[in-house]
Amino acid sequence: MREKPNIVVIGTGGTIAGRGETSSNTASYDCSVLTVNEILSSIPEVSSLANLRAEQLLQTGSENFNNEHLLKIGKRISEVLKDDDVDGVILTHGTDTIEETAYFLHLTLKSVKPVVVVGSMRPPSAMSSDASLNLYNAISVAVHPTSRAKGTLVVANDEIHTARDVTKANSFKLEAFRSPYGALGYVVEGQPRYYRMPWRDHTVSTQWAIDDLEALPKVDIIYAYGALDERVIDTVASDARGLIYAGTGNGNVALHIVAPLVAAARNGVHVVRASRTGNGVVIRNGAQPDDDYGWLVVDDQAPQKARILLMLAMLSTPAERSALQAAFYRY
Ligand code: ASP
Repeated sequence: MREKPNIVVIGTGGTIAGRGETSSNTASYDCSVLTVNEILSSIPEVSSLANLRAEQLLQTGSENFNNEHLLKIGKRISEVLKDDDVDGVILTHGTDTIEETAYFLHLTLKSVKPVVVVGSMRPPSAMSSDASLNLYNAISVAVHPTSRAKGTLVVANDEIHTARDVTKANSFKLEAFRSPYGALGYVVEGQPRYYRMPWRDHTVSTQWAIDDLEALPKVDIIYAYGALDERVIDTVASDARGLIYAGTGNGNVALHIVAPLVAAARNGVHVVRASRTGNGVVIRNGAQPDDDYGWLVVDDQAPQKARILLMLAMLSTPAERSALQAAFYRY
């Protein structure tokens, strides 16, 4: 038995690595300037929780993250987790797209060891910054045995969220993260307290392994509004292999958009109806005859996370629409 768990902290930038000109700069600052070592050394309390090893993988705002970044992060974490001496991983990350990276890891990592993704809404230099407590809490979650086998977790603002459900729902406040069915638990004084479990398949029970993935297919998102120019659909569909249509309400599609989306599906593009509300289910064959049009629906997933899931689902079941639809109901 080790005296303290061994945790690897992988840095990628974001506000948690940011610095403002003054302490009153809570929302305008330079992003991704502090190294992960600098962040950790400013929080001496964390050394009582674990033996920490820091690694700088990237140093950029998460709004820049593309599919190659996802693969790079996933592969590195997978490699680190294979080391028997490593008990868990923390990924420091910008908050803008933390939910997409976390969901990608949740679906593709093959380990029951805790992986916790953490960022902050205010840089460490700001008054009432959430950076140090979020990171301290993330480490306390990663070292705790109850955090094993729960998939990838996101810790923010004293809450533990499952990567499947969490989304960033506010642009500047500390309480920016929301899961539609509630957080899995709290972190109280450095102790995780869980109240629920992730229900849908993740990590070791999914059909994807990050080590086997070399590239992800191009899937784009179109945001709906009544005056949307139908040429946008044609342009996107000419290049992408999948298209998430973030429709109004229950995945509704404006009358003039139906024909280009049907054409896209007939040309082999996987068209998925989602909701720009970011909450609730999209009903298959409800507002639109999805069977007739060859379209898919997201179940309850937000468009940006449906994109992650569709990219993966297309890898294991190309061209089989029923299998792709099943993936939305399984994960
Ligand atoms: N732009 C930043 C990022 O996502 C914002 C943040 O970290 O809160 O990297």
